[in-house]
Amino acid sequence: MNTKYIIITGGVLSGLGKGVTTASIGLILKSKGFRVSVCKIDPYLNVDPGLMNPYQHGEIWITKDGYEADLDFGHYERFLDIDLTSKHNITTGKIFLSVLEKERKGYYLGQTVQIIPHVTDEIKQHIKSIAKMDNAEILLVEIGGTVGDIEGMPFLEAVRQLRLELGERNVLFIHVTLVPIIKGEQKTKPTQHSVKELRSLGIQPDIIICRCQEKLNEETKRKISLYCNVSKEAVISNHDVEDIYEVPIILEKQGLSKIILEKLGLKERCNTFHKWEEFVERIKRIKDFVEIAIVGKYTKVVDSYISIVEALKHAGYSLNHKVKIKWVSSEDLEKDESAINVLNDVDGILVPGGFGKRGIEGKIKAIRFARENNIPFLGICLGFQLAVVEFARNVLNLEGANSTEFDPNTRHPVVDLMPEQRNIKQLGASMRLGERKILVKKGTLAYEIYKSEVVYGRHRHRYEVNPKYISLLERHGMIFSGISEDNRAEILELKNHRFFVATQYHIEFSSRPLKPEPVFVAFLKECINYRKWRNAVKNKAEILRIA
Ligand code: GLN
Repeated sequence: MNTKYIIITGGVLSGLGKGVTTASIGLILKSKGFRVSVCKIDPYLNVDPGLMNPYQHGEIWITKDGYEADLDFGHYERFLDIDLTSKHNITTGKIFLSVLEKERKGYYLGQTVQIIPHVTDEIKQHIKSIAKMDNAEILLVEIGGTVGDIEGMPFLEAVRQLRLELGERNVLFIHVTLVPIIKGEQKTKPTQHSVKELRSLGIQPDIIICRCQEKLNEETKRKISLYCNVSKEAVISNHDVEDIYEVPIILEKQGLSKIILEKLGLKERCNTFHKWEEFVERIKRIKDFVEIAIVGKYTKVVDSYISIVEALKHAGYSLNHKVKIKWVSSEDLEKDESAINVLNDVDGILVPGGFGKRGIEGKIKAIRFARENNIPFLGICLGFQLAVVEFARNVLNLEGANSTEFDPNTRHPVVDLMPEQRNIKQLGASMRLGERKILVKKGTLAYEIYKSEVVYGRHRHRYEVNPKYISLLERHGMIFSGISEDNRAEILELKNHRFFVATQYHIEFSSRPLKPEPVFVAFLKECINYRKWRNAVKNKAEILRIA
């Protein structure tokens, strides 16, 4: 089958939202009836981003097959409603590793192994193998970083060769740039320069998509068209919108799919884009909101919890509510006794995943606050483990109970390293990763939520609830309502609480805009009820006061 490739490059700045742009292009083309897949090239030497600091890199997305991926994978899976794998991420590290392994095996028959052609061949071959694996009619290839970075050169060279090899009807270049506004004027020079840089590498973009705070005006489009050698229709404005789910709408309004399909010699097969338009229209009309506190360590880098925020949004939209997030730093809760009071005004408390000791006690405080004050609570991964620690300390009275991750010598290791993790020699890709089958117990809240005895969830952890403590915890009222096939605690809940649920697996990776994840929906439903109830009580008190 003849795959068409769309290569997306970036210019001027990183962090322009190229991932969302790529995902939006994919969504639009999928709605026109094509089998679309997507892959991401990350020009760094890390083999995968798994060991990278969230401060530097944002969230790690886990694919079904347990690959620790860049957060753009989240945008792709959410917008396109597809499942990707480790194969869909090409890094310099992976390419070099594979070339060097081949060299050691004598594969190159004594040749001098070089960037061109050996590394570039490896890159092209990898891209083509993804298209084949997915049986894709259109494969989007996003190249991370910006044009001109030394790291990106072999990849740009490889895609230049790809176009030469397959022809312009089969390989299309889209360049994403920035149009800054200085003293009220839209400036095109940075775009001109980055396109010039791209052309000096032998790549003439077919379409230029410009990120801008406001809609590009006709004069800006005309200028970019003239100086960058693309038609004016192929200069597309990607201006700021309130919600990222509007991006496909604004791109398509300017005729993006028409230009792409024309250039690739394809014809629209059907058109289901109206479904997305209806979804976005509905979001825009929502007036009510619900406020959730996320108690985390990386609260200053919002990208660290991007999938949780998106999953909350999806669930909220399905209940006709917008979600306001109150970011609460777990370290602040530790330092300042009165800081916990910020949780008095929120409608729900969420403790996300994490690693390392910093801020742990603050998270435990927040969990206790939620449990004792009957505030809806949702814990994910580390949030799940800490709910067990909090319960052990304050309900079972096991003084100093902890996870051995934070106190290796604790007298009560209620959360402990998984046995197979004890002899790990290499840190990368060695956690319990990816999707596992989970058996849900009938008669529990989890069953009520999922309406199924079997669910699947994506994992990324080294520690687990210590099996030795499970029956003790259960005797005191903690219910383990989901257990994995390999017999690990996966879901917990409390009776006699408005909503207290936590999962060892990352429910945020299973949420899609039009298919919200059931646990998030159930959580938000209770948060909304709790908000209404509080407002009613407040109003009643007010009436009594006036009377
Ligand atoms: N640090 C914990 C573990 O490794 C939790 C991991 C997480 O939250 N992703 O088990």
